[in-house]
Amino acid sequence: MIGQLPDGILAISLPTPFPVGPVNCYVFLEDPVTVIDPGMMWSDTTELIETALRQAGRNVSDVDQVLITHGHPDHFGAAGWLPQEADATVICGRAEVPKLVEMMDRTRLIEVVARLGIPNDMHGVFRSFYEGVRHLTHPIATERLHLLDDGDSLRAGGREWQVHVTPGHSVGHVALFDPVSRVLVSGDHLLACITPNPVLEADAESPDGRRRSLVEYLSSLDRFVRLDPLLVLPGHGPRFCDVQMLTEATRRHHDVRANEILDVMDGLGEATPYELSRALFPDIEDFSIMLGVSEVVGHLDLLEDDGRLLRSSELPCRYVPA
Ligand SMILES: [Zn+2]
Repeated sequence: MIGQLPDGILAISLPTPFPVGPVNCYVFLEDPVTVIDPGMMWSDTTELIETALRQAGRNVSDVDQVLITHGHPDHFGAAGWLPQEADATVICGRAEVPKLVEMMDRTRLIEVVARLGIPNDMHGVFRSFYEGVRHLTHPIATERLHLLDDGDSLRAGGREWQVHVTPGHSVGHVALFDPVSRVLVSGDHLLACITPNPVLEADAESPDGRRRSLVEYLSSLDRFVRLDPLLVLPGHGPRFCDVQMLTEATRRHHDVRANEILDVMDGLGEATPYELSRALFPDIEDFSIMLGVSEVVGHLDLLEDDGRLLRSSELPCRYVPA
């Protein structure tokens, strides 16, 4: 049956307070016992993990390592709690460390959003969101961290996994691939029912102060097609197998969205990314505005690369049709 879990792997659906809904946590029961994305310190998350382990004949104290696919709070909020109980290692992509240890301090990101035309009074909304999420996030002891780079291998659950670091949804996002069983743990890079948001990400090295998240995201998709997995274990939603079909649908979705943004731009004449996001998503509120701007900025990068839009040099940046 498609989507059946391989022997020795458990899936636990853990609640989150976010619109995305529950996050998928995976437990590799063989040694070294490994928990992937243990959710947030919210609702009955810790009991759900304890119960699932117990029912499989394991205890929290048996957990050797906790792997975080990426530093978004729905995936890592409880990743500090579990190793403390189990004396386990915390494993993540090298570039995710600032997100994990700064306890939701997103000061640099607020500087980025100011460049995109988001009014100052919205910055407080974003700060309070991060502050609220901080309370659902257990601190991670840095001495427990083991950092992964693209091309590394990782022993987990009795298997030897290839490590794939693919920026886009998050700069140090890690996926794991077992070339023997051709199982792929995709985190949020590949999801069956949701197109991952190209989340805005600060980058002090870049002249714009940010990553080109959607450009990076799309450039990683072919790598997953080449792996040709038989089963994908995603960070949210159902398991699936047809990566080729999913990536084609994803590319089509982004083409359609880019054309929608061009149409809106034609109506407005010129606009900041924030103004475009309000025109495109007039009903979204609070933190979702940040995600709306991320979505728009990602496509503006694609349109600028294609020569279909031009960007002014003053701040906040404004775009005009080419
Ligand atoms: Zn997620």
